[in-house]
Amino acid sequence: MDSSSEISIIPIQQSKINTVDFNNLAFGTVFSDYMFECDYKEGEWQPPVIKPYGNISLAPSARVFHYGQAVFEGMKAYKDNNDDVFLFRPLENFNRINKSSKRLAIPEFPESYFLNGLKTLLNLEKDWVKKGIGNSLYIRPFVIATQPAISASPADEYKFMIVLSPAQAYYAGEVRVIFAQEYSRSANGGVGFAKAAGNYAAQFYPTKLAHEKGFQQIIWTDANTHEYLEEAGTMNIFFRIGNKLLTAPNNDRILDGITRKSVIQLAEDNNIDVEVRRISVAEIKDAARKGELKEIFGSGTATVINPIKGFSHDDESFELPTLNDSYADLFKEKLMNIQYNISEDPYGWRMKI
Ligand SMILES: *Cc1c(COP(=O)(O)O)cnc(C)c1O
Repeated sequence: MDSSSEISIIPIQQSKINTVDFNNLAFGTVFSDYMFECDYKEGEWQPPVIKPYGNISLAPSARVFHYGQAVFEGMKAYKDNNDDVFLFRPLENFNRINKSSKRLAIPEFPESYFLNGLKTLLNLEKDWVKKGIGNSLYIRPFVIATQPAISASPADEYKFMIVLSPAQAYYAGEVRVIFAQEYSRSANGGVGFAKAAGNYAAQFYPTKLAHEKGFQQIIWTDANTHEYLEEAGTMNIFFRIGNKLLTAPNNDRILDGITRKSVIQLAEDNNIDVEVRRISVAEIKDAARKGELKEIFGSGTATVINPIKGFSHDDESFELPTLNDSYADLFKEKLMNIQYNISEDPYGWRMKI
């Protein structure tokens, strides 16, 4: 299908790109010239449109405001030294937003609209993808229930949008985390596996309490017992004991991260022993006491790999060693080399725009 014939484009008057300081970007605060918009009504997704980025108008009774019927995705576009632009495993994001939508009773979005929408949008916005390792254009697809009627049931009108925000390499500083003992992010049978908007709002308060105690993030544990480590809430989590890499299995409480599954694949192909299984808090504390716990790191699109410097549980604190052969550095380099078209991509993860 020819993408441009499907999608109508309302042109901007003038690009605002020259007003943006690409060396001083606060994440998620600056948006590109265009956005993608597609409405669902009368039982189907209507023809999409790409138009100037700007405010949208919704009735105060739009259901998203009352019941949180909303899902999103997070992905990035990368530019190589020849000015070619690439996406990383975009079909995974497409499949996942529809998985999330299904759980939230939102109609699934057509694949051709998603991919053609992204390609058309990125072709218009190529200049917003800056060269250089760490620079990217963050892509935020999302769906909201727009039907103006405050009854607690699925809407029959929705808006699917994609907005783009230039991003620089993100350095979080030294990250210390707390293992959750009181609050939970998700429960059996719930929506933890979905990128449902409400999952994030529900983390803000406990995370604020963690900040007040000097921790940057919470590692969520299983809601029933708080004995097993699950994920970080915007990142999946890996532990290295000796030379073995551990991560929790996916279930309905854990987000099925694309970076996570890429790390697992890279580990297997680089002869790193990787075990996908339940990991108890007791096991990690025990390994830390014995000096066998070498690394903890998070994985996610925003930061790729995020090393964790220390953790705390039951008022006991542990620090992790600084290594010069860290798995975190290895995976970060291998992933970014594929994303930025520096290395071969034997997996077919890279998609050229
Ligand atoms: C998005 C997200 C991740 C990371 O997923 P990626 O596909 O690797 O970006 C992990 N956990 C949660 C809760 C998330 O929302």
